[in-house]
Amino acid sequence: MRSVPRIVLFLSLVIAVAAAAALISTRATRSGASVDAHQWLHDQLRLSREQDEKLAPAEKRFLAQRAKLVAEIRAANRDLAAAIQKEGKWGPAVEAAIERGSRAQGELQRLTVRHCLEISDYLTPEQAKRFLQLTSEALSREAD
Ligand SMILES: [Zn+2]
Repeated sequence: MRSVPRIVLFLSLVIAVAAAAALISTRATRSGASVDAHQWLHDQLRLSREQDEKLAPAEKRFLAQRAKLVAEIRAANRDLAAAIQKEGKWGPAVEAAIERGSRAQGELQRLTVRHCLEISDYLTPEQAKRFLQLTSEALSREAD
């Protein structure tokens, strides 16, 4: 019987992580101040120094990959602007630029979900609970 609440917690966490990832990746592309949503979540979790140290390599990888994808999304937006100017209507270049941007957005979302799941491996049950709460709060704010 003890395993039931853990499974429920885990499933809720997975759902929350996916939602948080969507939120974080949306914010990441909307403005340059994107690092803050991700950083905010980390700060709120109050990770111990030990957890921080264990997470550091994953964190470094995530930030580097995210920077690449954000640059790719910006490049796709520049492509789109140029294509609209050049074609003046819906055409293959416009379509290609949108496709490029969508691909990068999808990759960013995947990367973020993976990163969140990576973090959840290092959380205590209390932190996992807090993580859920923060996510639902953030999403409720975003939905207003
Ligand atoms: Zn992180």
